[in-house]
Amino acid sequence: MRATVFGTGYVGLVSGTCLAEVGHQVTCVDVDQAKIEGLERGIVPIFEPGLEPMVKANHAAGRLAFTTDAAAAIADAEVVFIAVGTPPDEDGSADLQYVLAVARTIGRHLSRPAVVVNKSTVPVGTADKVRAVIAAELSARGLPLDFDVVSNPEFLKEGAAVNDCMRPDRIVLGARSAGAVDTMKRLYAPFNRNHERLVVMDERSAELTKYAANAMLATKISFMNEMANIAERVGADIEMVRQGIGSDPRIGYQFIYPGAGYGGSCFPKDVQALERTARQHDYQAGLLQAVEGVNQRQKHKLAELALRHFGGDLRGKTFAVWGLAFKPNTDDMREASSRALLADLWAAGARVRAHDPEAMEEARRVFGQRGDLELCASPASALEGADALVLVTEWKAYWSPDFPALATALGARVVFDGRNVWDPVQVEQAGLAYYGIGRGRSL
Ligand code: NAD
Repeated sequence: MRATVFGTGYVGLVSGTCLAEVGHQVTCVDVDQAKIEGLERGIVPIFEPGLEPMVKANHAAGRLAFTTDAAAAIADAEVVFIAVGTPPDEDGSADLQYVLAVARTIGRHLSRPAVVVNKSTVPVGTADKVRAVIAAELSARGLPLDFDVVSNPEFLKEGAAVNDCMRPDRIVLGARSAGAVDTMKRLYAPFNRNHERLVVMDERSAELTKYAANAMLATKISFMNEMANIAERVGADIEMVRQGIGSDPRIGYQFIYPGAGYGGSCFPKDVQALERTARQHDYQAGLLQAVEGVNQRQKHKLAELALRHFGGDLRGKTFAVWGLAFKPNTDDMREASSRALLADLWAAGARVRAHDPEAMEEARRVFGQRGDLELCASPASALEGADALVLVTEWKAYWSPDFPALATALGARVVFDGRNVWDPVQVEQAGLAYYGIGRGRSL
């Protein structure tokens, strides 16, 4: 089938590439000319395991094209995806300007019946807005074309996006017409051989499903961080508590890791946007407000521990920081906890020597040149001249450091483990002070 995807970010590029991988003819459109030119030369602008070879292979096979020419890309598409960003606007609601701009472009250039599929995370009711915008453009052209709008939220995880896309847990389709559902079933058949993964519903439910999924996951994290803060105060170890509750199959082990707060381009903005949607409908979503509040506080936890350890004064101190991306296996630093930590350390007069396996270029872009930041080529070089080490992102490469060597390298012999990946006993035996999250020994 012929599909066009608007937006070549994490969602659009991965989805478009996976559709090409199973044999569809895919054109990816972006307004960012440099990105498109790079992609045509095989330069993949994001780090996502497995993506680059797949992009190159499908491009070389002629199944995956990149363009800024929206009109040509729409001309003979059977399915047109919208996969552009929906960042928070000033009050935290989802900003629909990019989604609606694509809808206008589609309405201006559509010349045959097609299914328009929204993959961006959008507030309930957006399918109606997209439909109205396209219909208005078509009617201005005097072209009464048949088209459908389907809501197909994306559930891929950055860092595992290709695998999630090739082997989805579920494919949610919000649609009004049986014809549109049939088209989508044909398009997704290679990802859904037994048809057990498709969940078909109305558009509003599909739109809310995406927010509900992210809000549930964010709630699990904030719940565990709340428990960790209580554990710290009462002298309990949250890691023991985690294992104790995870063994209950109704709770489960997944996604109950305490830490330095959640970040990324989705959880923070989606929890906020859902809370704002509720408010617009005269409902105060107290639980969502608490989830967001706990997370915002948690992002400052590591700096708080550091300030406490050093008696409230970080002037003249140098911190090695391991991990800048918002989670492992990505170069994405949007809303990353590292950003809150670095801001706090700098505000308290400290200097930072940071390393990340994939996010160094992004860090250069985010922080620019500054005298109190050194971006280091290796975890070991980040330790040079440092007083303390803070682990923010749990990349596997950071899990088993040589603790006695750390004790020698760090002037103040102290580590702050923002993801509870180290064994406090082993760390302390090496002669280091250990601070984790909710480990009953941090006060
Ligand atoms: P992104 O910021 O990485 O990419 C968006 C792309 O859209 C950019 O390349 C931008 O240049 C392009 N764009 C903007 N306006 C355009 C236009 N008019 N025509 C063509 N291209 C245009 O965004 P993303 O992370 O891929 O997220 C896209 C949507 O998917 C968001 O709504 C997000 O919430 C949702 N989502 C993201 C993830 C994720 O893990 N990143 C997962 C699920 C859902």
